Amino acid sequence: MSNSAKVEIIAVGSELVSGLIQDTNSAYLAARVTEQGGEVSRITVLPDSREDMLEVFEAALRRQPAVVLVCGGLGPTPDDMTVEVLCAFAGVDGELHEPLLQEFMKRRGFTRREQITANLLKMATVPRGSAVHTNPAGWAPCVELTRNGTTFYLLPGPPRELQALFSQHLSEALARRSGQRRVSRRVAVTMHESEVSPHLETVMAEFPRTYLKAYVALRQDSEHALPVDVVCVGQTEESARDTVGLAVARLRELVEGAGKALTVATG
Ligand code: ATP
Ligand code: MG
Repeated sequence: MSNSAKVEIIAVGSELVSGLIQDTNSAYLAARVTEQGGEVSRITVLPDSREDMLEVFEAALRRQPAVVLVCGGLGPTPDDMTVEVLCAFAGVDGELHEPLLQEFMKRRGFTRREQITANLLKMATVPRGSAVHTNPAGWAPCVELTRNGTTFYLLPGPPRELQALFSQHLSEALARRSGQRRVSRRVAVTMHESEVSPHLETVMAEFPRTYLKAYVALRQDSEHALPVDVVCVGQTEESARDTVGLAVARLRELVEGAGKALTVATG
């Protein structure tokens, strides 16, 4: 796949690398990106450390993915320094985002600028030249900044906020960027993995934008059918769905030709 669909995910938080909190944000983002036809090429988890963040941002930029999603470290506390590091990395100053500040004042019911707290000022400060997407579930906004063709999106760590921002601002943008849609269908075959594997290979060879995978770990026991996912990528949801239909039909033909059965699985 070309770099235009490649996405890297970076999760920032000392609590993540120490094992205190499980990094569920990366898994969430990876699933959404894949759904939108993007390809997650790397996931990095690192502590709240300036040096580590800079190093990871620079390494990501060298690989030139289309998008880098960074989550965590956007809050008001001193260990939250993602914006500051992005400024250093991009060689720009942080600046107060006036419309965001106005919105914060409105939401807090402030009428005078002096009422604004240092915490709010910090969260309204973004790298010069970045686009800002307001947070529907919290305060720290999503910050978007492009360098050398790679777009960095900073997202807040709290999963509820990250998910709200992703659905509202990023999902559509990523789908548009990849120009592709991904559709998957789960079927089940009364075959062992070794028996079905050559048939999966045949279907993948005949349908180039199709990926078939048997899930031995999901099989309840050897008496039950083996789950197989048929995944297709297309320019539109409709074309991807059409291809899934054709690929499933072809697999059914091969499986039934061998005297076994294929069913569209429920789980
Ligand atoms: P804020 O400080 O305003 O809450 P933030 O962007 O600084 O937001 P963090 O301080 O890094 O985010 O994390 C806030 C909380 O979100 C953490 O206590 C943790 O519970 C959760 N969190 C952060 N990162 C992740 C992650 N990758 N996966 C799951 N939960 C996370
Ligand atoms: Mg933090």
